[in-house]
Amino acid sequence: MLNLKNIIHKYQDKFAVNDVSLEVKSGEILAIVGESGSGKTTLLNIISGNIMPENGVLSIDNEVIDIYFNRLIKELPNIKLVPQDYRLKPDYTIYENIDLALTKYTHQYRRERVTELMVLCGISEIKNKKPREVSGGEKQRTAIARAIAEEPLVLLLDEPFSNLDSINRTHLRSKIVEIIRQEEIACILVTHDLLDAFLVADRIAIMQKGKVLMIDTPLNILQEFENQYIKDFVSSAVQPIKDFMEGFGKNMNFDV
Ligand code: ADP
Ligand code: MG
Repeated sequence: MLNLKNIIHKYQDKFAVNDVSLEVKSGEILAIVGESGSGKTTLLNIISGNIMPENGVLSIDNEVIDIYFNRLIKELPNIKLVPQDYRLKPDYTIYENIDLALTKYTHQYRRERVTELMVLCGISEIKNKKPREVSGGEKQRTAIARAIAEEPLVLLLDEPFSNLDSINRTHLRSKIVEIIRQEEIACILVTHDLLDAFLVADRIAIMQKGKVLMIDTPLNILQEFENQYIKDFVSSAVQPIKDFMEGFGKNMNFDV
């Protein structure tokens, strides 16, 4: 289980992440949703060790991680980040891109693990292609396969659905759920699109100006009426669907 307490980070004098505390369990998907500039990427970079926060405690399974050391070594085996631009190696095949994460293991284990990961992520058929020859969804799934190759406890996904068409989005959403449940990873998925969060997350955190305003189940977020910002955010995601359904004479039974 991943636990964050009182994480703070400023750029110059401006808070990017302002006192964030949250928890994610193994096999759980927490979606962090917020508009552009709300601090989502900064928070993921703090958790993955790329940015040193000014304050805060990070622990996994009740063991505190030394954030300073984490930043020095850059690569924490238990926490893997899939950045928004995937960072696949263009001259290597899909198979080789995943295999590169496993160079310290035996050839036989590497072969077995890469094959298993390609099946899990649904990319076996493109194993000999280069990244430029596959779709955005396939690139994203390759980046996820590479990130989970060494069985991390925590997987961080930064805007995994951006740049994907709706078929690839739908496919990726169900794949992510399948992967997280099967591998029992604690997953934080960042998106600016609340609809994607509703469809994939066990819980949703709404972020605004570096602060987490609310963390709850998708259903409870849908029914939040106290906070005007969340209410507006929810209704901007849901209203188009509501309007569409009402066009067919069907009412949706939540009030936005
Ligand atoms: P999000 O991922 O939610 O769009 P970010 O974490 O990228 O948000 O950014 C949060 C805030 O911090 C924004 O106001 C952004 O302009 C600022 N910011 C991000 N990175 C830097 C940086 N390297 N230097 C200065 N300000 C930054
Ligand atoms: Mg971002």
